[in-house]
Amino acid sequence: MTVPGPEAVTTADDPLAAIAPRLFQPLGVDGVYARTALYEAVMARLADFVTRQRDPLAEVLRFPPVMSRRQLEKSGYLKSFPNLLGCVCALHGSEAAIRSAADRYESGGDWTTSLAASDLVLSPAACYPLYPLVATRGRVPADGLLFDVAADCFRREPSRSLDRLQSFRMREFVRIGRPEQITEFRERWMGRARQLAEELALPYSVDVANDPFFGRVGQIMAVSQIQQALKFELLIPYHDGAKPTACMSFNYHRDHFGVVWGLQDLREELAHTGCVAFGMDRLVVALFANHGLDPARWPASARRALGL
Ligand code: ATP
Ligand code: ZN
Ligand code: MG
Repeated sequence: MTVPGPEAVTTADDPLAAIAPRLFQPLGVDGVYARTALYEAVMARLADFVTRQRDPLAEVLRFPPVMSRRQLEKSGYLKSFPNLLGCVCALHGSEAAIRSAADRYESGGDWTTSLAASDLVLSPAACYPLYPLVATRGRVPADGLLFDVAADCFRREPSRSLDRLQSFRMREFVRIGRPEQITEFRERWMGRARQLAEELALPYSVDVANDPFFGRVGQIMAVSQIQQALKFELLIPYHDGAKPTACMSFNYHRDHFGVVWGLQDLREELAHTGCVAFGMDRLVVALFANHGLDPARWPASARRALGL
């Protein structure tokens, strides 16, 4: 086995270049990193901090990094972000067919031409597998539903910036119910997120946002998303003068998933859904970038919030 030589995770002119090696180690692909013990210790404290914010009524589910391709297709993901999706491909067929494909690699050829899509994709967000699961349970009760979900997510957006990974962790609180239940949930969380940023002693702003929908039609979708204020973000600059990074998002899907999955309440009204997403890796990098590499020297309120 050849061992790849050392390479930097960031580019030299990146202001985070000085802290990057203590947090991430290179794995040979931009945006895919090994995380150090220092980084993971803070990640664990942050995950506990988020857990303490959870509504006691929320049902907890942890999803694997892959999900049903069929379900993601049905969710409409290919209309919005086909460029970001990773699909699991595998060698199918007889032993001889698989052997000959694999042998092509050994003889310097391309084995990947024999790959075919499997029934799995890499989950691009933590909440997609939830809606079809909830739909199998029948009607949504009058009080609606509340979940705490998480997954390792994949998006095909390679970058040398530490705030744009291809593989990253997302935690979400998801609300399913009537429109007013979703908007109340989202409003409350936008306020709560400001308090959390203050407790963590992080500079922040909250702003209306749009998803980077694919292509020219996508630009129209993005404008309409902003006009309808369907997405807000908690933005945190990583250093003075930096363009702030979206570390949380607050999304209202209206009845999109209700229609797709036939989610209805007891009065046969279509369920609405919304989610509050914590970009866990972006939040951890935000803490190190703003407060330095030694958590013992972080601001007292951040240390208290994280139990450091
Ligand atoms: P951005 O506009 O920065 O690409 P987004 O709108 O695509 O963000 P969401 O789809 O709302 O992000 O995902 C929820 C959260 O997941 C984001 O607020 C962010 O914190 C985190 N996130 C999204 N993409 C990445 C990524 N490539 N690397 C690390 N974290 C990410
Ligand atoms: Zn979501
Ligand atoms: Mg994005």
